[in-house]
Parts: sequence; C-alpha cells; structure tokens
Amino acid sequence: MHNETRESDNLHIDIDHGLCIGAGQCALAAPSVFTQDDDGFSALLPGRENGGGDPMVREAARACPVSAITVSETGS
Ligand code: SF4
Repeated sequence: MHNETRESDNLHIDIDHGLCIGAGQCALAAPSVFTQDDDGFSALLPGRENGGGDPMVREAARACPVSAITVSETGS
C-alpha cells in the first residue's frame, strides 16, 4: 500500500549547530521531533532522530530561517 501522506520513518535529520541561531522555528513546527537545549539551540528529541514518521519534519526544515536543518532519506 502506498500512502503519500505518511512521512518516511527512515529519515536522517541533521542540525548544523554552526548555523543554528536558536530561533526555535523547528521546535514550533514539529514539536514531536525537535526541542531546544539549555542554550536555546535546536536538538532532536531522544528516539526521534529518524523523524518518527512526522510529516512536519520537512516543514520544520523549511521553517528554519538559516537552513540549518537537512532532511534526507536513508531508505528502508
Ligand atoms: S529553526 Fe533553525 S535556527 Fe531555529 S532553532 Fe531550529 S535549527 Fe536552530
């Protein structure tokens, strides 16, 4: 079965902490995957490093004002 609305749960999410300015847009867009660490910078929630199938992961990457988030498919 092919379901276009479900995001792959085999994503690799990379946050470039050299770019991140702690704007928090990622955590706002996809709070089930992204959080902010004590310094306000983006972090992935434990166990959500693969995106957890959340379709908002790509939206979070788009929302980042400095394009610090890279989402790639790792294949199944
Ligand atoms: S949206 Fe971008 S700049 Fe803002 S916290 Fe997330 S990764 Fe960092």
